[in-house]
Parts: sequence; C-alpha cells; structure tokens
Amino acid sequence: MKSQTLVFELIILAIISCGPRDQKVKISGEQKDSTYTGPIIDMHIHAFDEHSSFSQMLGQEMNLAMTGKTYTASTSMDKLKEETFAKFEEHNIVKAMVSQGELWYDFAPEKVVIGNNHLLSIDELKQKYKEGRLHILGEVAPSYQGILPTDDRMEKYFDLAEELGIPLAYHMFPGGPPGGAYFMYPKTRAFQGKPLQFEDILLSHPKMKFYIMHAGWPYLEDMKALMYAHPQVYVDIGVIDWVLPRKEFHHFLKGLVDAGFGKRIMFGTDQMIWVESIDDAIDAVNSADFLSNEQKEDIFYNNAARFLALTSEEIARHKMEPGSAHHKR
Ligand SMILES: [Zn+2]
Repeated sequence: MKSQTLVFELIILAIISCGPRDQKVKISGEQKDSTYTGPIIDMHIHAFDEHSSFSQMLGQEMNLAMTGKTYTASTSMDKLKEETFAKFEEHNIVKAMVSQGELWYDFAPEKVVIGNNHLLSIDELKQKYKEGRLHILGEVAPSYQGILPTDDRMEKYFDLAEELGIPLAYHMFPGGPPGGAYFMYPKTRAFQGKPLQFEDILLSHPKMKFYIMHAGWPYLEDMKALMYAHPQVYVDIGVIDWVLPRKEFHHFLKGLVDAGFGKRIMFGTDQMIWVESIDDAIDAVNSADFLSNEQKEDIFYNNAARFLALTSEEIARHKMEPGSAHHKR
C-alpha cells in the first residue's frame, strides 16, 4: 500500500514537474521570437566634430578584442551625423542623449537631448543652460584624467546638476580598449569604476537625478547594492551591449533585472563613430530571452521616458508614430 502511494506520488510529481517545464519552454520560445517594435530612447550616444581625437580613426576598421567583430567607421563627421540619423529612422529611435549634442541639435531638435560635460566650466555650463543648450550634464568621465568621483574638483558639478534640476550622467568603466592604460589612457585604473564610491555623493545631493553609464560593468554586486540603497539611481547599458561577448552582457543584465531593478535600466548605445554598433546594441536586448516584452519595452523606452520626465503628449506621439506599430528589424 505504502509503495503504491509512493508510486502514485511520484507520478503526480512527474506530472507537476513536466507541466510547468513544458510551459516554460513554450514561453521562452515565444519570447525568443519577440522583437521589440516600439519607439526607442538612446540614453548614451556621441556627436563629434573634426577637432575630436576620433577624427584620426574615420574611415578605418576597428576590431573588438572581446568579440572579434570588426566595425567600419564613418568616413567623415558629416557622414557620421547622416548615418546616425538614418539608423535612428531604421530602428525607430525617437530620442537620444547626445554628448556634445549641440553639434546635431539644430538638425533634429525634437530628437536630440543635449549633453555637455565637466570639460566646461560651471559658468560656461550655466550659460549653455540659459540658452537651452544643456539638458543633461554628461557624459561626465573624469576617470580618463585619473579623477575619482569623490575628488573635490567634481563636487561643483554635482551641485550644479542638483541646482539646475538636470540629470547627471556619469561614466565609470569600461573606457577604451582592454589594456588601454598601457597605451591609450595611462591615467585610467579599473578600480576607478567602483559604483559604491557614489554613496556619500548621493546622500549629500539627494535631489540630483543621476545615472551610471555602462551600468557600472563589471561591478554587478556593487551596482545592486547602490541601486538598492539609493532608489533614485538609474543606469544605461551603452557600450556593454556591443563590445562585450553577448553571454557576458546577458549575464550582467539578467543580474540587475533578477535583482528587481528592471524599471531603472535604460537603453543606450554609446555609439561613437561606428554606426553598426547601434544594430548590435539593439539586438543584444532583443535577443535576451529572459526578458518579457514588457521588460524590453521598459528598457528600450519607458524607463528613460520616466527619467527624462517626458510629457504624456510626447510619449503618446512616440508610441503612435508610423514606425511603432509595425516596425520590424
Ligand atoms: Zn560614451
């Protein structure tokens, strides 16, 4: 009798454990095919002019050490602008935080959110703000000069962001190619990318709107701790969505999503002069089969729309745009 019950229980268990598993396979199958088709906000992209050091790389191929993939740079800065906006059209990117966005603002004022950074003085930034030429303080990336966020010289920029009520976008890590400290950015150090350095800065600037660029990769544990302790912190996933091996990007993204921070992750490309990186960055999120359609929509659009405090009219317009309903990649 006892053994019969046991067999019966085993059968029941088998049924129970088969049931959900079958369902799971089905669900993840559906999700794999689900390509997000709505509007996208890119919270991390760059405009350059010919004075930029990127000028030397125009028209050349660039091979990524970690993926082995080769990208070809635009042939001129004018072409870069043209090709970037063509990619915006293709992928339904309706808005973008453009570092040095002044360079492109007049071309598409409804799309460009202007970023200017700490390389300008406080007075210059205030002047730009008055002229409507400063929407976000970013990309702030002093680690290239070996400066930590806790350095006294940075304090005034956090004060300014809080005073003006504009977001501050802070680059931590990675920057430049692997091993870049040996030949390109001698003042960078990996430890400078530790997100928990921001704790006291956030506590002393409680009203500052703030996001960490590249989501603080590879410091996942730090990032979780920071986002838990400071609910105002958002992140963008620029650069890590195309320079890292896909598996590592998914591992990192899943870590943040599983920890419950899916509402504070914003899409970004960190496109510099290789516009095909935009295709790969979008695909990296779309191919994440652990994300539901709703989570993809949050990352691609909703979280940034909330962070930027877009009006409901603008959001409705973006979601109704012709590309939104049937946009397919
Ligand atoms: Zn960047």
